[in-house]
Amino acid sequence: MYDRGLSEEQRMMRQSCRDFVDEVVLPFIRENWQREWSMTPEDRLPASILGEAEKIGIRALGVPEEFGGIELEKGAEVSTFAMIAEEIARGDSGLADKLVQNWKVSVLLRQLAPRHLQEKWFKRLVEDPQFLMAHCLTEPRGASDRWLPYNVPEAAMQTKAAKVNGGWVINGRKQFISNGYDAGLYVVYANTNPKVGMLQGTSSFLVPRDTKGFTVARCNETLGCRFMNNGEMVFEDMFVPDDHLLAQDDALGKAGIYFRPGKIIQAAKNLGVGVRAFEATADYVQNYVQGGRILIKHQAVALRLGDMATRIEAVRALTERAARAVDDNAPEAEVLCNMAKLFASEEIMKVAQHAVELHGGNGVMLDFGIEKVLRDAIIFLHMDATVDISKFKIVKNMFPQTAGKYAGPE
Ligand SMILES: Cc1cc2nc3c(=O)[nH]c(=O)nc-3n(C[C@H](O)[C@H](O)[C@H](O)COP(=O)(O)OP(=O)(O)OC[C@H]3O[C@@H](n4cnc5c(N)ncnc54)[C@H](O)[C@@H]3O)c2cc1C
Repeated sequence: MYDRGLSEEQRMMRQSCRDFVDEVVLPFIRENWQREWSMTPEDRLPASILGEAEKIGIRALGVPEEFGGIELEKGAEVSTFAMIAEEIARGDSGLADKLVQNWKVSVLLRQLAPRHLQEKWFKRLVEDPQFLMAHCLTEPRGASDRWLPYNVPEAAMQTKAAKVNGGWVINGRKQFISNGYDAGLYVVYANTNPKVGMLQGTSSFLVPRDTKGFTVARCNETLGCRFMNNGEMVFEDMFVPDDHLLAQDDALGKAGIYFRPGKIIQAAKNLGVGVRAFEATADYVQNYVQGGRILIKHQAVALRLGDMATRIEAVRALTERAARAVDDNAPEAEVLCNMAKLFASEEIMKVAQHAVELHGGNGVMLDFGIEKVLRDAIIFLHMDATVDISKFKIVKNMFPQTAGKYAGPE
């Protein structure tokens, strides 16, 4: 474990996260691997695990101190999020998803929500160890168009919000939402002007779960990160009052508040999966004997281990650099956070593949457990923009006058 460059506070937080993972999360996963496969989402992750996360103070990061949150070091918030996300994902990436959604949505709400609603919801979040939040952008059609964004009226969101006396009426559907099945509070994006491109005509709203017209339609059965309880939700003539409007018309422009830390956190969770894959594999190849000697003494095995370690360090280096850029609000932050997320997703996939292969037949046995790193790693190729869309976003950002002008007349 490298400590260089960490403050005393960060070092202590990291140690308590590591202890939580080693003493609570990993033993739970080892002894209860079947629970991940329960088709009753409520039965998957016991409430006590979030309760334990609460004890070390990592559930409500991002909440301002005045509302009972824990203030992270100024200018190092995103780097600290990354450090903690990596540690928790080393135990379980789906559990990390549950927690990081709370941090990311809190960062958004503390900038966009009116003070009385911050007070109300941050209080709920801080008081209830099971309270989760979700961020609902993706719909059954056109998620990649939103990421790019493809800024023409045809690519606008199908979810619509219409202005009525005293508030807004929202109709539509969101899918693939992390924490979607469990959350108590949702941020929902909807089209508010069908005549213009989505950058000019999308608004965001705060939606409590008990709002009339709001339904959680299903919990998606995902390949990996299964504890996140990814969900789908439907809005039918759902009324929210005026003060629940977070950003009118330019909500996608403001979503960077959420997405920049979000990309770093994605890369960091992915890194945690890679670290887990490496640790478990290093242990295995130093104990398992084949051809009269432990695996690591066979050079072909050692080469793979060297490859895994190098990829992990390269991901760490880029993620840390990108996190600092986001913390510093540097001009290169946008391109670097996309690069970090993209690079982590492709590299850790290769790390996970080595891990599974070096375990031989055990590599694909559910009760052995190493297959989980491959299942968790593959999810990152699809979350927060696909690999190809991420690459295109990087190039658009680097060449704004040519690739940047993606939609509209030449
Ligand atoms: C586990 C998980 C958790 C998620 N959590 C959330 C969440 O919390 N909130 C949320 O809002 N969303 C969430 N998402 C949604 C996620 O952001 C989208 O799934 C992702 O952006 C891809 O969108 P899509 O599935 O609609 O694919 P599509 O946009 O339909 O893409 C399909 C394929 O077409 C390619 N493609 C599309 N357009 C182009 C183009 N112009 N040029 C070249 N190739 C193109 C894509 O790269 C991809 O290969 C989550 C998804 C997953 C899988």
